[in-house]
Amino acid sequence: MSKALGEFEIIRNYFARAPQGEGVALGIGDDCALLQAPPSGQLATSMDTLVAGRHFPADADPAMIASRALRVNISDLAAMNASPLWFTLALTLPSSDAVWLKKFAAGLLETAGQFGISLVGGDTTAGPLSITIQVIGHTQKPLRRDGASPGDSIYVSGPLGAAAAALPVVLAEREVSEAIRREAEQVYYFPEPQLTTATAIGKFATSALDISDGLLGDLIHICEASGVAAEVNLDALPIAPLVHQLAADNAIELAACGGDDYQLCFTVPEAAAGQINQLDLAAVPIGRLVQGEPQVRCSYRGRPWVAPSPGYRHF
Ligand code: ADP
Ligand code: MG
Repeated sequence: MSKALGEFEIIRNYFARAPQGEGVALGIGDDCALLQAPPSGQLATSMDTLVAGRHFPADADPAMIASRALRVNISDLAAMNASPLWFTLALTLPSSDAVWLKKFAAGLLETAGQFGISLVGGDTTAGPLSITIQVIGHTQKPLRRDGASPGDSIYVSGPLGAAAAALPVVLAEREVSEAIRREAEQVYYFPEPQLTTATAIGKFATSALDISDGLLGDLIHICEASGVAAEVNLDALPIAPLVHQLAADNAIELAACGGDDYQLCFTVPEAAAGQINQLDLAAVPIGRLVQGEPQVRCSYRGRPWVAPSPGYRHF
């Protein structure tokens, strides 16, 4: 066991010296941070909690936990076409383990540096391990869920299913080669927020969200918010290579229903589809929106296909 630290020592030693980026008038240390909003556009904010044993194994590498916690939050900014600015961290720790904290803070601040987002405050408490991050970003052209219309094409930004295929490996329920285990950890703990795609599609897209609970489970949210139905051709789904390596028999199910990939699902008017296809993106058209009650209808190899399991549900 390493030496136990108090709350203020934890803040001072690991978080208070986080680099202060753009727009931070006053960072960590006072009752509030003071932030200068950009002169135009809108601020976008979102929060996600990761609970040990539920969203990551409690004994996982702290730097990897930190990476995942921040990346999944930045993914929500990408889904809104917002660029990252600031974040706060609510950390609940079972004990003040200096070795764990050092690794966690290093992973967190490295990830923050990669995405140009500054830690500006937080809260530190004792309890079962849980990490809550709130992100704030800035957008000139928000991509909401309620802007889609019948006739729009549906796209996904890249390969699906990798995180669902990786999960049994990450949970040590399945033994694989060292190389595959590393790849599974990479996929699960270092999901790539689709900021570049969001910027590129911003002026064409009518709606977007990030796929955290599975494509079909998330696409229904666009249908409900926009009052449309979706027709998805599962033959068109881009399937991640890891799926073929780990779960080839369930490839379509993992790509359609597996969570945690953090690719974007977005819609564009038919007239703009040509322009999207010309962008240098991995995005793939997978279907279209039609008039009707909010629902997602799938076809696979020319037949209707019904998901064997719904998307991830918290309760
Ligand atoms: P208060 O008692 O006024 O709520 P705290 O003692 O909780 O303030 O926090 C002191 C300062 O340290 C605040 O600026 C707060 O935002 C920051 N802080 C606390 N915990 C963290 C953390 N885990 N990461 C970053 N900043 C933190
Ligand atoms: Mg205070």
